[in-house]
Amino acid sequence: MNANLDIVPMQDWIQTNGKPLIIAGPCSAETEEQVLETARRIKAEGYAHIMRAGVWKPRTRPGSFEGMGEPALKWLVEAKKETGLPLAIEVATPEHIELALKYGVDVLWIGARTTVNPFNVQDLADALKGVDVPVLVKNPVNPDLALWVGAFERLQGSGIKKLGAIHRGFSNAQETKYRNSPMWAMAVELKRLFPQMPLIGDPSHMAGKRALLMELSQRILDLNYDGMIIETHRDPDAAWSDASQQVTPEKLGEMLRDLEVRNASY
Ligand code: PEP
Ligand code: MN
Repeated sequence: MNANLDIVPMQDWIQTNGKPLIIAGPCSAETEEQVLETARRIKAEGYAHIMRAGVWKPRTRPGSFEGMGEPALKWLVEAKKETGLPLAIEVATPEHIELALKYGVDVLWIGARTTVNPFNVQDLADALKGVDVPVLVKNPVNPDLALWVGAFERLQGSGIKKLGAIHRGFSNAQETKYRNSPMWAMAVELKRLFPQMPLIGDPSHMAGKRALLMELSQRILDLNYDGMIIETHRDPDAAWSDASQQVTPEKLGEMLRDLEVRNASY
C-alpha cells in the first residue's frame, strides 16, 4: 500500500514522561456521581494521562443504553476541573464534534463502527476542518487495513495532523477466545506504514472479559505500542455497558504495576 501522512508526534500533544500513554475511564458516562467518583479514583492511582468516557454509545442492537449525551459532557468537564485529567470521548456525527469542542474535550476518537463507513468518516473530517484537536481512529470492525488508512487520509485532508490509531481488534463470525480478535499483524503493518503514528492498544474491547486483560496488555506492551486505553469503572459489575470487561481504577493500578513495561513503571 502506498500512503503518506504528516503526523505530529504524540509527545507534542500529551506528556507521558516516556511511559506508554494510559487512557482510563468508563465505557459510558452514566451519572454525575459515577463519572466523578471514577475520575477521583483514577486520579488517586496516578497512572492515567487522559480520562475516557462514552457520551454517545454505538450499540449493536436498539433497546440498550445509548449514552447520556450532553449532560454527560457537563459531568466530564467537572471531572476534568477536579482532577486535571484531559478528556477523550467518541464522536460519530458532526453534532457530536460540535458539542465536544463546545465543552472543550481534549481528544476525540472515532469508533470501530464509524471507521467502516467512508461517508460517515468524511462527514467527521469535514466538521473538523480547521480544528486543531488530536483524533484517534479505532480500527474498523472488519480486518480491512485500507479502510483504517482511508480514515486517516480523510482526516488529514481536513488538516488534522495530531492523529493516532487505536487497535481494538476485529469482530468474528465464530465464537473465539476474544470478543474481537487482535490480528496483531494488522496493527504492526499500520505501524510499518506510518512509524510516526501513535499506536494505542485497547485490550478491553479485544478481551470482552476481565480475565484476558493482563495477557493482552502484556502483549501490547511487548509489541512496543505507544499506549493503552482501558475501561475503568467504579463498580464494573454494575456498569450500563461492557460490564464484563471493565475493572476498578485500583485493579487497573495493580495490573499496570504487575506488567513489564520497558523503561518505565506505574
Ligand atoms: C468504546 O470504546 O466504548 C467502544 C464503543 O469501542 P469500539 O468502537 O471499539 O467498539
Ligand atoms: Mn466499551
